[in-house]
Amino acid sequence: MRLLDQDFELFLTQAEIESAIALMAGQLSEDYRGTCPLFVGVLNGCFRFAAELFKHYDAPCEVSFVKMASYQGLTSTGIVETLLDVSESVEGRDVVILEDIVDSGHTLQHLVTHFADKNIRSFKIATLFYKPASYHKEYEIAYKGIDLPSEFVVGYGLDYNERGRELNDLYILKNS
Ligand code: 5GP
Ligand code: MG
Repeated sequence: MRLLDQDFELFLTQAEIESAIALMAGQLSEDYRGTCPLFVGVLNGCFRFAAELFKHYDAPCEVSFVKMASYQGLTSTGIVETLLDVSESVEGRDVVILEDIVDSGHTLQHLVTHFADKNIRSFKIATLFYKPASYHKEYEIAYKGIDLPSEFVVGYGLDYNERGRELNDLYILKNS
């Protein structure tokens, strides 16, 4: 499979990804039962993950989105800025961040800082994909869908220079 100037190969099928999401949704429904958490999806990458998660999350909740910028091409620049913020008041809320993927943790670090000092009741991270060998931050990630090697992936919401988000399966960079 080719996107722009790079070749990718199939790594995980939609069925494999979605069974991991269903599991996480079940866990979240249990953990947050009796509360009304505010889920905050991190755009653009989380759109497939979030949509699938709420097919299975079966308790009262609210859903909002933020948008950050960090990646240019295949490697993280480490530069993260907030492009879109939550309009809801987060004070006293149980906040659950929905990330497509945690790699170096730069974006996550930015999110943690962004939501600090806002009198949030609880703050947890849920990520669909996780690269354990790349993550060196101390911040604990409460919900992890699928562990990946430290290679570049596309599909299921994740892009290569904005291409490939629409792909139903996950692809990994060839010869990486
Ligand atoms: P971090 O800041 O943890 O290095 O990376 C977080 C963000 O970088 C993710 O939200 C995602 O947008 C992007 N990212 C990290 N790894 C990958 C990858 O393998 N493929 C794609 N397409 N994006 C990635
Ligand atoms: Mg992202």
